[in-house]
Amino acid sequence: MEKSEAVDVVVFGATGDLAARKLIPSLYQLYRTGHLPEGSRVLGAARSKLDDAGFHKFMESDARQHVKDADFEKKSWDAFKAMVCYEPVDLMAQASYDGMAERLNTEPDRVRLYYLSVGPSLFSATCDGLAAAKLLNSRSRIAVEKPLGRDLVSAQAINDKLGSLFKEEQIYRIDHYLGKETVQNLLALRFGNSLFEPLWRSGHIRDVQITVAETLGIGTRGEFYDRTGAMRDMVQNHLLQLLCIIAMECPTGLEPDAMRDEKRKVLRALRPITGADIGKNTVRGQYRAGAIAGEAVGSYLDEGGVAEDSHTETFVSICAHIDTWRWSGVPFYLRTGKRMQEKLTQIVVNFDPLPHNIFTDSVNSTIPNKLVIQLQPEESISLKMMAKMPGGRMKLEPVELALNPERGARRRHMEAYERVFMDAINGNQTLFLRRDEVDAAWAWVDPILAGWEDSQDEPRTYVAGTWGPARSSSLLVQDGFVWNEES
Ligand code: NAP
Repeated sequence: MEKSEAVDVVVFGATGDLAARKLIPSLYQLYRTGHLPEGSRVLGAARSKLDDAGFHKFMESDARQHVKDADFEKKSWDAFKAMVCYEPVDLMAQASYDGMAERLNTEPDRVRLYYLSVGPSLFSATCDGLAAAKLLNSRSRIAVEKPLGRDLVSAQAINDKLGSLFKEEQIYRIDHYLGKETVQNLLALRFGNSLFEPLWRSGHIRDVQITVAETLGIGTRGEFYDRTGAMRDMVQNHLLQLLCIIAMECPTGLEPDAMRDEKRKVLRALRPITGADIGKNTVRGQYRAGAIAGEAVGSYLDEGGVAEDSHTETFVSICAHIDTWRWSGVPFYLRTGKRMQEKLTQIVVNFDPLPHNIFTDSVNSTIPNKLVIQLQPEESISLKMMAKMPGGRMKLEPVELALNPERGARRRHMEAYERVFMDAINGNQTLFLRRDEVDAAWAWVDPILAGWEDSQDEPRTYVAGTWGPARSSSLLVQDGFVWNEES
């Protein structure tokens, strides 16, 4: 399709949290920056009985506050609002697709993106509903939010349904972490420079640590979260995708399948964690009352929508291994949790220590190099190296080499969801997951979930505002390492 061709974007779940915080603001930015062609339409849909004006009010009250002031222009916001309409749709009730069909069918030949910002239990019914309302053709695309199912079997059922109505090239399985500038910058760092490649392997890298820590609890999503837990919500998708970006071989090009082939190889090379290894290499935790930044917060068990005897994990840490020549013997430590001490999404690549230290004059001289890729709270990449401090003595201190591209007014930082929409509209699937990747991720995660369920052990508790259960630290200590806790 031509980049200037008008498109229709249908957002299901348009009154939800994700739509307000990310989707509507991102579509607005795309419009403002010229990536959403003039004449395009955005149709919001959910069960709430709103008309266009009612939805515009929701945009003003709930979505507008998530557009940064520096990125807001009243004129373009008003023009964008005029492109947005709303249709009440209950995705489980076929009759309610009619109003939407009437609106959309005034432009039957457009590229049309259906964005499912609703729970995965609605995915299949939505596909059937769209098909029965004759709203699908070869120019239709469907974007689905994570989590895709709750295990391999349910993911396969959803994928079978998607596959029965859409070709694989029409399906956009979202992991918005891949849309983050820093993740793409990491690809540039790895595959646009020859410097790191010889060192990017066992024998030079000691361990890799991936942390996705949130200070937030579960907010109003208690029921959903209690059915889901951190493993399904975060590890199966975001953490494993970050691991893939670090561990994959150089793809033959940037075409979608070249990237996805390499990521799938990593997922398939993950050593299964089963039986006694589950207790040894994984930790699950659940938060109890504590304090974050001086503010008292309650226990998970007291959150709305959570069962009083819930065993759902709000914290996971895992020691994973990738059975390939490149990564033999290099542990990949994964950790994610709610109500942690800090909001931090970070990948740390720890290089091997010096084989022999000649700088005995310096207490810090043996600090190994590390590459720190941070996605939150700020996006940055830095390489920690040793350098001589000015002066007469041969004293070394760690210094930080920032590898961030220059930012400025003309180099606006594109938000992850802007890229998700832009790529889906332009038909670029590189940063979306292929079915076999999703299957491979569930196939690795399922035995761990099953092992936890079969065991009589309860999740380990941790105090809100800490870095999780003590056992998470000993997971590394048993290998002689510690978690990186510098942001
Ligand atoms: P949410 O706040 O609970 O919103 C759900 C939306 O779905 C609402 O607009 C709701 O509106 C609509 N809905 C529910 N049942 C419906 C039905 N039968 N027919 C039509 N619409 C229906 O959830 P969310 O946080 O926005 O998350 C949406 C999806 O994105 C979930 O799959 C979630 O896992 C995923 N996700 C969320 C986030 C996040 O940060 N929030 C991040 C990544 C992924 P009505 O009640 O008006 O129908």
